[in-house]
Amino acid sequence: MANFDSKSHRGNYNNRNTHRQAGGNHYRSTNRRRETPQVQVEVGQRFPLTIKRMGINGEGIGYYKRMAVFIPGALTDEEVVAEVTSVATRYLRAKVHRIRKTSPHRVEPRDSYADQVGGFELEHLDYPAQLRFKRDVVAQALERYQPEGYRHYDLRPTLGMDDPYAYRNKAQFQVRRNAEGQVEAGLYAERSHDLVDLPTCSVQIPVTMHVMRAVVGMLQDLDMPIYDEEQGSGIVKTLVVRAAAHTDDVQLVFITNSPKLPHKHDLLTRIAAELPEVTSVMQNVNPGKTSLVWGDDTRHLAGAEAITEKIDGLAFKLSARAFLQLNPYQMEVLYAEAKKALNLQPGENVVDAYSGIGTIGLSLANVAEEVRGMEVIPEAVADSNENAAANGITNAHYELGTAEELLPKWVMAGFHPDAIVVDPPRTGLDATLIETILAVHPTKLVYVSCNPSTLAKDLVELAHDYHVDYIQSVDMMPQTARCEAVVKLSRRS
Ligand code: SAH
Repeated sequence: MANFDSKSHRGNYNNRNTHRQAGGNHYRSTNRRRETPQVQVEVGQRFPLTIKRMGINGEGIGYYKRMAVFIPGALTDEEVVAEVTSVATRYLRAKVHRIRKTSPHRVEPRDSYADQVGGFELEHLDYPAQLRFKRDVVAQALERYQPEGYRHYDLRPTLGMDDPYAYRNKAQFQVRRNAEGQVEAGLYAERSHDLVDLPTCSVQIPVTMHVMRAVVGMLQDLDMPIYDEEQGSGIVKTLVVRAAAHTDDVQLVFITNSPKLPHKHDLLTRIAAELPEVTSVMQNVNPGKTSLVWGDDTRHLAGAEAITEKIDGLAFKLSARAFLQLNPYQMEVLYAEAKKALNLQPGENVVDAYSGIGTIGLSLANVAEEVRGMEVIPEAVADSNENAAANGITNAHYELGTAEELLPKWVMAGFHPDAIVVDPPRTGLDATLIETILAVHPTKLVYVSCNPSTLAKDLVELAHDYHVDYIQSVDMMPQTARCEAVVKLSRRS
């Protein structure tokens, strides 16, 4: 999904559409490369198309004169009239002009704008079929990279939600003033910077949308200077609302173009009076035109500096810029799977690599001899060490730095991990880290992945020395094409 923030810009990258690059693109090459027929096709041209399967971004794929056609919104086995939207050497992109034969799995999306913005790629597909799709995405990625023994991997059915809506704990919406002078907050339309206003959103936890829309109303009433991308003028760029599902904490962050926040007093007074559910108000300053949503300078405006989420009986302080899984309900499923796959025994040392606020490592601390973790966002590292202390955990320590730098350093200094759990961003593991893991050769290795493509690619290296016991996909983001997976690896003897 494009600009609906997620693990792809955990921390602070607003890398819209990165999933189409960063190892996520299956379009450019396949292992069974055929000669591309020279087909004369033009944008706007229409033809009937049968959808053969679905691609990793949730789009339908059919073939027109042996050219692959990627067509968002079309489902497997549907017959559509496709209208070409772009022509590349090896493939075409198209949109659905008309559906001639509808899939029995097609459902009406709950969000009227589902086909306009990223993050709703599968909202027209029934949920059981979404779950089958996600397992298939893992299979497609393995098929493409072919790590050792991949044909025999145990790909377990994707674990989904009972009610796959109202799960997102964070809304990160761009704010603009439209031509009529109305303040709007939402997401960019795919491949553009045209804002689509989102008055409602079926996947958000309701309180996040309630706070979001109330604040949009306040910005309007106070005639707040809203950021204008073209002019580079105005102040308020982005609103972020994050709710802790297992406490009642809600944090509101204004991301601004300058440290100045006009009408600050009036704004905070109204928030205090009208939005008692908001427990923390922060400002993040991110000047100028940049692809990053977040700047480095975060300031306190009102209430607490952070919110607290409870996971598996532990309390986790969460700073504004720190990453937390977006689905607090499936988060517990994901971590339970990671824990199960790790099967840590007393006396074992474990590394929590890409640790965020320490959620995975701290939940292992009661069994482990020692937990060490590393993370690149300073506030998140501070949170994880505070979280250890606040939960009475004395055998866990988190350090600021990259996994690829710190793991070799620790090992050189004599630390030996028996188990490593990695949970990298969508780009996957750094080559240096893979080398170190293979050199350290821990008995147990668990890979928590949010991108099947980079997972499959990394498995090519890891599978030389590790046996892939199973891959358990977990649906953390229903209605999107995103897929998370927990991979249990064990050292070959
Ligand atoms: N395990 C945590 C966080 C996973 S998200 C959880 O489940 O919540 C991945 C984290 O990796 C992010 O917090 C990001 O800031 C961090 N990160 C990104 N690149 C990194 C690197 N090279 N080394 C260590 N951490 C990194």
